[in-house]
Amino acid sequence: MQALEHLYPLLQTPRKIVITMHQKPDGDAMGAALAMFHFLKSLGHQVTVVSPSNWAKFLNWMPGCKEVLDYELYTEKCKELINNAELLFCLDFNSMHRTKKLETVLLEAKCVKALIDHHEEPVEEHFEYGASDILKSSTCEMVYDFIVQSPYRDYLNLDMAACIYTGIMTDTGSFRFAITSAETHKAVAHLKALGLEHSIIHEKIYDNFLENRLRFIGNALLHHLQVLYEYNTALMAIGKKDIMKFDIQTGDTEGLVNYLLTIQDIKFGALLIDRVEERKWSFRSKGNFDVNEFARLHFEGGGHKNAAGGRSSESIELNIQKFKEVLKLYEADLA
Ligand code: 5GP
Ligand code: MN
Repeated sequence: MQALEHLYPLLQTPRKIVITMHQKPDGDAMGAALAMFHFLKSLGHQVTVVSPSNWAKFLNWMPGCKEVLDYELYTEKCKELINNAELLFCLDFNSMHRTKKLETVLLEAKCVKALIDHHEEPVEEHFEYGASDILKSSTCEMVYDFIVQSPYRDYLNLDMAACIYTGIMTDTGSFRFAITSAETHKAVAHLKALGLEHSIIHEKIYDNFLENRLRFIGNALLHHLQVLYEYNTALMAIGKKDIMKFDIQTGDTEGLVNYLLTIQDIKFGALLIDRVEERKWSFRSKGNFDVNEFARLHFEGGGHKNAAGGRSSESIELNIQKFKEVLKLYEADLA
């Protein structure tokens, strides 16, 4: 994989470009894809964003979101676009399996592939060009760098700014996580100077849910929270019944895992959700406990040191049993 700056000359002539991101794109994945979409379109390229799956409704306000193609809904059209593309940008993931059903289409695509991502352990051989930096707050911050370090930095506009801000804000937990750097704040200062209205974005992302989602959270905290004080760990598992009862949709469970870490002295929070096709884990930690390693070793997952995810095809009950068994190995680390 060559450094991403070597890709700039490819942008001198109009090209067919596809941008994609991890399945169930979050604010950072969608923000990065759409910021790049606006940037490349303003340079005169023919650009399409293909999402491997659907996404949370609270992202629909983002400029360009209505033009994003969901691979699960427009499979043939997406395949054709990817097979005809000259250049493919892969944003906010670093291994093709994170795109689930899109994986083989991406692996078989003959075009030039470029990576921009901040997760651990990139599969570099999948990409001709790339930037991969685990010290970056978000992929959106890296897309910002890509734009302002290019010969086309003056193309940065308010649509791109709104998309970039969304990803930085969501991936840094509104600028509170340790990964938030001086560079992150400088990037945001630049976006503000362009005219970005940041408080509107906070409202659109965080104050834009239906009543049922709040009641679902209340119910989950009351009935499904287990605090394992001997391991400074909080665990929550939510089955299909509750998902159906509260009509929970993609995105409604985002942020729920963070409540677990608000308990005094709790260092490790783990949330398990029954997603019908699989059981999906979200792991969060405070301090040195490495949830990326935990997810990789025990739950087919990965991510970052303090925020990671995993999956399993076993039942909720077996997952909880396994989690509690595995936790014993980490007693000293969590003390
Ligand atoms: P979340 O818990 O919000 O779904 O994910 C937390 C972080 O871990 C995100 O950066 C996400 O991209 C990453 N992540 C979530 N699930 C997986 C997974 O199954 N595999 C890998 N490698 N990373 C994941
Ligand atoms: Mn991210």
